[in-house]
Amino acid sequence: MPGKRGGWGVRRPLRGPKYPAPRDAHEALERLQAGNRRFRESRPLRPHGSVRRREGVAAQGQHPFAVVVACADSREAPELLFDCGLGDLFVVRTAGHVVGDTALGSVEFAALNLGVDLVVVLGHSHCGAVGATLEAEASGQAAPGHLGALIRAISPAVTLARGRGGDLPEATLRAHVELSAAAIRASEVLRPRLEVGTLRVVGGRYDLETGEVVFFGDEAAPLASPLPPQPTVLGTPGPLETCLYAHDLDAAEAFYSGVLGLSLYGKAPGRHLFYRLSGGMLLVFNPGASAQPGQVPAHAGAEGGHACLRIAREATEAWHAHLTACGLEVTRYAWGTRGESLYFRDPAGNVLELAPASIWGLGDGGEP
Ligand SMILES: [Zn+2]
Repeated sequence: MPGKRGGWGVRRPLRGPKYPAPRDAHEALERLQAGNRRFRESRPLRPHGSVRRREGVAAQGQHPFAVVVACADSREAPELLFDCGLGDLFVVRTAGHVVGDTALGSVEFAALNLGVDLVVVLGHSHCGAVGATLEAEASGQAAPGHLGALIRAISPAVTLARGRGGDLPEATLRAHVELSAAAIRASEVLRPRLEVGTLRVVGGRYDLETGEVVFFGDEAAPLASPLPPQPTVLGTPGPLETCLYAHDLDAAEAFYSGVLGLSLYGKAPGRHLFYRLSGGMLLVFNPGASAQPGQVPAHAGAEGGHACLRIAREATEAWHAHLTACGLEVTRYAWGTRGESLYFRDPAGNVLELAPASIWGLGDGGEP
């Protein structure tokens, strides 16, 4: 694709004094709104359709002012409904404006190589892809061929829409536009431009009957977060305390000291047992007592929790043999080539797991 430019801030003026290039996303959005107004009022200018324009963009390369991610529906033609011409819009269309890897790569290309400042995700009324997804969910029938990929991509919007209530097809469309916009905002390579505000991602809905495009705005942009940037000195926190709950602390002590062989660090009869782990602490609380705040806030909880303790991978077999010899019912689960977990219960019913850090792709010490 031709048209690569040196930097984002450089914008060569388009030919033709009537249609100067929008200078930023705000002006680009205004251009789209004005074009849509002309279209729906049936007074289009049909700009940038001349032979001179065609030859100009062929010779100079393309400098579109907006990316439009739209449905492939034949009734939603972006150049027509925004009253634009050659070289104005970089259009990415799939059924149901599904943003997969290739669609996202196309948006990234336009934002990084063509310097486009505005991305519009445009859904539309009576969208067949949204309707097919709702039907598939209702019937439970698998879609033939590759249609299933579209339906899987739209399904999360149905779940979101159900939680919001209202007219389900309309709510699904809105949610799907928002999720598609969020997928674009999550792009690692677009993040620098989104964070400094030189790129905007906006959702919209095109009404097939009236011809009107309503923009949802980009107020929900997760990257426009009011939170301050993370100082590097904070680092990545690591696990220090693992908490479990047991009403019968005597039985818990017999189990954790005797069966697992942990070394007791401290105990408060009736309230807690503290054990040393490799690289951290295991805290076993009596839930009733720990719910009472003392010098530190309450550590409320309940029996029936889960903890996974890190073991050396080569010790898996020895641990299995030891736990079995202690009379425990142990369930093994293999994580492909990454190692195995051993599952069993403590006397309080907590589900314990022993596993090497490699099941999470971590080093033996838990380091990434
Ligand atoms: Zn559609």
